[in-house]
Amino acid sequence: MSTNVTVTGAAGQIGYALLFRIASGQLLGPDTKVRLKLLEIPQAVKAAEGTALELFDSAFELLEDIDIYDDPTKAFEGTNIALLVGARPRTKGMERADLLEANGGIFKPQGEAIAAGAANDIKVLVVGNPANTNALIAQSNADGVPAARFTAMTRLDHNRAIAQLAQKTGAAVSDITNMAIWGNHSPSMYPDLFNAKVKGERAWDAVGDENWVANEYIPRVGKRGAEIIEARGASSAASAASAAVDHVYDWVNGTAEGDWVSMAVPSDGSYDVPEGIITSFPVTTSGGEWKIVQGLDVPEFSRERINNTVNELQEERAAVAKLGLV
Ligand code: NDP
Repeated sequence: MSTNVTVTGAAGQIGYALLFRIASGQLLGPDTKVRLKLLEIPQAVKAAEGTALELFDSAFELLEDIDIYDDPTKAFEGTNIALLVGARPRTKGMERADLLEANGGIFKPQGEAIAAGAANDIKVLVVGNPANTNALIAQSNADGVPAARFTAMTRLDHNRAIAQLAQKTGAAVSDITNMAIWGNHSPSMYPDLFNAKVKGERAWDAVGDENWVANEYIPRVGKRGAEIIEARGASSAASAASAAVDHVYDWVNGTAEGDWVSMAVPSDGSYDVPEGIITSFPVTTSGGEWKIVQGLDVPEFSRERINNTVNELQEERAAVAKLGLV
């Protein structure tokens, strides 16, 4: 038995880092064989074929086969895990409505193709930006597929939030648990130190510096993507791929006892977040299903910031509704 994994935008930067991690067994574990189905736009199919040659040359024991498509219907046929990485980037002078419309042209047909032919246990992770709203478009156009199967990636924000907190407190990354990102995968996302723990102590207390949290930590995590572009001359790719692997691995294999991860999932109204938008919450996973962690402390400091990032998502939802995409 092997698992079919579809990756869109396979010839892109993230795709290049991601595909080797998947083929080596890091996405699904060392006992699961993988069949890769790569989707690209026609102009990029040749480059995807080049990546496929390199995957072949790596002689990965778990990699059974690679197929490359420019047609979403074929790319999602029988697929169990879909990583939607390819998206239309914002170009100079582009308004947000144009960006959302261009991405609607990608994610609506992909949602329809998933509904038409994916396997019954399909799990979807959207990485391509604006990821939360792209996920909402795909989900809204995938009749018959449970909404819960559509998620968007805030795991890179989560990992960045852990790394920055570890550096500040001098703790090891493994000493930090219960990190939660709330909201949109955008600079408005909110990393929550009231519920995160450093060696079991509330992170807010371990840091003991509200000014640092409000004025350095939160903006730094939120704008880390821009900092990487500035330093590297290109956007983050390997860290985004690594976060995508973490997201799917934990979704499939379950979270550690007492801990949780951040995933953008369709809101059920928990914490007064409007139902239906795809927004990041702390979640636990078990048996391939996620559950929003309930009963967490949301003081005023958090509430303001959660409202702000959620409002941004509501505006995006209203914009794509106006375009008839959801
Ligand atoms: P990347 O592989 O670098 O990025 C792909 C997407 O991931 C972008 O939307 C990017 O957003 C997003 N992303 C999400 N989180 C992050 C993060 N933390 N850091 C960086 N990126 C993040 O883009 P490339 O341009 O190299 O490649 C895109 C590929 O997708 C191309 O090969 C193109 O042909 C393909 N494509 C395929 C489609 C399809 O299969 N139907 C449709 C459209 C494109 P952001 O732009 O905001 O950085």
